[in-house]
Amino acid sequence: SNTLPLRTTRSTCPYCGVGCGVLIDSVSERIVGVRGDPDHPANRGRLCTKGSTLHHTADPAVAAQVRLLQPMRRDRRGSAPQPLRWDQALDWAANRLAEIVCRHGPDAVGFYISGQLLTEDYYVFNKLAKGLLGTNNIDTNSRLCMSSAVAAYKLTLGADAPPACYADIDHAHCLFIAGSNTAWAHPVLFRRIETAKARRPEMRIIVADPRRTDTASLADLYLPLQPGTDVMLFHGLLHIMLTEGWVDSTYIEQHTTGFTELRQLVQSYTPAAVAQVCGLSPDNLYTAARWFAGVPDGKPATSLPSAQRLPTLSLYCQGLNQSSSGTDKNACLINLHLACGQIGRPGAGPFSLTGQPNAMGGREVGGLANLLSAHRDLSNPAHRAEMAALWQLLPGTDLPALPGKTAVEMFEAAADGQIKALWIACTNPAQSMPDQATVRRALQRAELVIVQEAFATSATCDWADLLLPATTWGEKEGTVTNSERCISRVRAAVPPPRAADGTGPRHDWRIVVDLARRLEQRLPRRSHGTLFPYDNPQAIWNEHRESTRGRDLDITGLSYTILETAPQQWPFPEGRSTGTPRLYEDGRFPTADGRARFVASPYRPPAEDRSARYPYAMTTGRLRDQWHGMSRTGTLGTLFGHIPEPQLWMHPQDMAESGLKPGQLVRVQSARGSLVLPAHPSHELHRRQCFVPMHWGSEHIGGRSDEGTALAGVNGLTTSAFCPQAKQPELKHTAVRIDPV
Ligand code: SF4
Repeated sequence: SNTLPLRTTRSTCPYCGVGCGVLIDSVSERIVGVRGDPDHPANRGRLCTKGSTLHHTADPAVAAQVRLLQPMRRDRRGSAPQPLRWDQALDWAANRLAEIVCRHGPDAVGFYISGQLLTEDYYVFNKLAKGLLGTNNIDTNSRLCMSSAVAAYKLTLGADAPPACYADIDHAHCLFIAGSNTAWAHPVLFRRIETAKARRPEMRIIVADPRRTDTASLADLYLPLQPGTDVMLFHGLLHIMLTEGWVDSTYIEQHTTGFTELRQLVQSYTPAAVAQVCGLSPDNLYTAARWFAGVPDGKPATSLPSAQRLPTLSLYCQGLNQSSSGTDKNACLINLHLACGQIGRPGAGPFSLTGQPNAMGGREVGGLANLLSAHRDLSNPAHRAEMAALWQLLPGTDLPALPGKTAVEMFEAAADGQIKALWIACTNPAQSMPDQATVRRALQRAELVIVQEAFATSATCDWADLLLPATTWGEKEGTVTNSERCISRVRAAVPPPRAADGTGPRHDWRIVVDLARRLEQRLPRRSHGTLFPYDNPQAIWNEHRESTRGRDLDITGLSYTILETAPQQWPFPEGRSTGTPRLYEDGRFPTADGRARFVASPYRPPAEDRSARYPYAMTTGRLRDQWHGMSRTGTLGTLFGHIPEPQLWMHPQDMAESGLKPGQLVRVQSARGSLVLPAHPSHELHRRQCFVPMHWGSEHIGGRSDEGTALAGVNGLTTSAFCPQAKQPELKHTAVRIDPV
């Protein structure tokens, strides 16, 4: 027979933070199928619609339409980019970057990278910015995804580490799902929740979300809180727990600090006050507090030790994170876990879900403007010295101490002319950042825009002076960490596509290393030899491992060889043979005194509240079958079967009162711009709320800002107001008005 052999490659899905394992079937150089990996702990063979259609997105016919295959350069903005050889492109980029650094200093450069990159890619980007150039201006789209979770974990528990794991779903007696449409955003995890509920119908599920989502349909208790009022709700629950004697005084006394201040603060968060602000009934608040505290039915309402409590697991996501009080929302939910001793036991703990496949890996290597490798702090001189030594910088060479510009700040600084060069990799800020008018001014004004990207369809490519084609899923090797701290290998099943002249995309880590070595020849030396001596991702991984020695996320024992056999959860220090499913089981936390800390922050309303002029609260979010800006999912017709076009959802009665018919075009207007969309009635929404999916950009939706700038989808309307601690923007709340066109 002349049939070519079928090859199977074990890897992971590149979409969401569940981190499902996939088996990629390929024949010759073509991916022909994708199956769920039955041996991967995250999914045990399951895949959602997005994951199970991955092979179609890798079809060569699709790739020919959407992939960037050659480096390209524009002489000036707006002109057609012309192909050039890799060495020419890299030399040109190195010359331009070095010139800008020499003229304006390293802080004139900003790196905006991505939670879709692999850990090894992230590591070399971070080392290039902080180690070689000496700037902390490196941030990522993970800033829009989980920086509030990071800030709150550090504030309360002492380290950026989700303490629970997926298996806790099978042990929890109460699941508190807040600001997360798990059914759509983390579908395989939701299947696990459904299975657990079917097996143990007595497990109680509470869903707190302004939208009555598919996730809420599984809830025993649905709390339709007013948008942005989560802190009010959490303080209200603690108030009830205190009044009823449901807190765990022993746990509070032995393992925490700061409770006196918090107890005082929540005194005024009475059920009546909270019910009024959140739009909830006092009875439902009482039920939620009792279930959360884990007080078994029929038990007297006295202080129960945690060992006798039914375990409660919280799952939360962008509804808490994407907020101008995101850190407070996260921290005040963690307060409840600490107050009831609902942490460090099977089925108990706060558990933030990551949106992207490798936002966690980025956090681990310190790839954000305010972090240093392996959960070290920029502001700590000893931590900087440790990294300078590990990177073998010349004696006396310090790493930059002041935090760099975070996502929103970086584009504002470029719009103001402070940042002159932007190097953007694997992300599409010209669609996904809030307040697009500012982002586009930034891209226009920057002297140099380098876009390192797999897809030519990314809107940001239009602003690039230099386009560097990158490999993508199915072609790359490295590692990712999913929401439960589980590290998996990502593997290449096929080589990258090639352009007619034989050139083709390069791996992200390779592009960084190739360009960094050129920069080393053009900039003052910061090390004796090259800082980038890597020939493969494994060499980068091994350096990253070493940087974690003795840290809370120590993975010194986790070699590629061990990862060949199975994914593993960190920490995994040298000498251990298994990972760590659950943290803080001994009640000790990685703070100076070993105790967790309560956070006593008062409730603050959203930055841009509804008003007579803008009477609706607009939320943006994911659809079930699309991913981010649709560069991959948008190539498949079948994925539009669920929701075929951009649209706005609003309450049927609001539509009726405005005289709107289903499908009628409306103008949605915020303080920054407007969009025209069809309006559809939805019983998911409550009065004076609306929802617009985040996936469509300017190619799909016509929009104008007040200045007449063409805008990119819904983020032409959203606000860049951000959480003061986490700097995460408030993508979940924009005040808008809705008028018939
Ligand atoms: Fe991929 Fe997430 Fe779906 Fe799993 S749940 S298949 S990781 S998109």
